[in-house]
Amino acid sequence: MSHAAGLIVTGGRVLTAVATPDDPLGVRDDAAVVCRGGRVVWVGASADAEAAARAAGIDPRDPTLVRLDAGGRLVSPGLVDCHTHLVFAGNRAAEFALRARGAGYQEIAAAGGGIAATLGPTRATPVDQLAALAAGRARRALAAGTTTLEAKSGYDLTLDGEVALLEAIHAAGHVDLGGKLRGAGPPPRLVPTLLAHLVPPEARGSAAARAAYVAGFADDLIPRVAAARLASSVDVYCDDGAFTLDETRRLLTAARGAGLAVRAHVGQFADLGGAELLAELGAWSADHLEQVSDAGIAALAAAGVVAVMLPAACVQLRMTPPPVAKLRAAGVAMAVATDLNPGTSWCETLEVPMWLATTHYGMTVEETWLGVTRVAARALGRDDLGVLSPGSAADLVVWDTDQPADLPYRIGVPLAHTVVVAGAVVA
Ligand SMILES: [Zn+2]
Repeated sequence: MSHAAGLIVTGGRVLTAVATPDDPLGVRDDAAVVCRGGRVVWVGASADAEAAARAAGIDPRDPTLVRLDAGGRLVSPGLVDCHTHLVFAGNRAAEFALRARGAGYQEIAAAGGGIAATLGPTRATPVDQLAALAAGRARRALAAGTTTLEAKSGYDLTLDGEVALLEAIHAAGHVDLGGKLRGAGPPPRLVPTLLAHLVPPEARGSAAARAAYVAGFADDLIPRVAAARLASSVDVYCDDGAFTLDETRRLLTAARGAGLAVRAHVGQFADLGGAELLAELGAWSADHLEQVSDAGIAALAAAGVVAVMLPAACVQLRMTPPPVAKLRAAGVAMAVATDLNPGTSWCETLEVPMWLATTHYGMTVEETWLGVTRVAARALGRDDLGVLSPGSAADLVVWDTDQPADLPYRIGVPLAHTVVVAGAVVA
């Protein structure tokens, strides 16, 4: 990504996502953001922006300098979608239609639905085409203000196939494994995650086959992915019908041993004790949490693990939301993400999850905003994304409103006006 020499945004209602004593969102009126070299170098009053830019070494006559007048609009950090299954082929609209008329899990499975309906098409699609599908989804997210997308593998399940899915993510765009962008594709930033999604059909025949699969994932695939720097973290689907708590421990311990961060899908259907395990392992995030015990919540709070709320999937499956009031009371930070996936939440942009987080989950507007900016970045192990402050990434969005509450309030309305990644206007 090439950065212009500089970018000066003036006249904004700047939501910094850096709390002040009386405002958790740190909103500043008639404010400016000065960026250079892909980073924010200064945030302050619009009247002081030119002087701040000169002090930062920006030549005001530089023809590559970009000036944006926000005209009183809201300016926020670029949104961070910290939980997506970005790479897959196929379409499960028929399954959606079956569920809409009341079909249960068994009927859907008998009709060829479920993950098998994604596994087949994904395995049959070449890496370059998978990358193109992922890039298209990422492009639509970017246009809606998402400047960073976490992207999981997990729809091939064979060890080589999972490597291919991570390679597809690398081919789809600009991979960001901790501040340095690489890859030839367009923004947004993609943060790849190796996901142990399910035991594949080929390994379900016997306990020995299952154990061999878990051992291969832990002892072969995870070190391979770490050595090739294909992902920054490992995620495990720890639930009834997926991986057991013991298997999750085995996989995540291997990830830690290989130098990768850890996270997991826990408690979507059943509480297996995953929250406590993630706290013990110092995970970046615990995702779903529709089912979690008080002890699990206390453990997440004590360990500072981010709880990732996925309301679009929860509502589509007609499940009860997670215990948001208990998470808040315990001091667990909450992120909000799309859970983009073809089975339960083909949701590419954050407007509707933000609406559901406020109206259905009972999160405040401030919690929801932090959940798609600063806290979402924390769920990716990053403190330089999701905020606008000196040193942070120059990823920002100018919105067609001056009200932060408009994003969750105006249901699904696309309000992104101008999107900037690494100091360059990209949408
Ligand atoms: Zn998920």
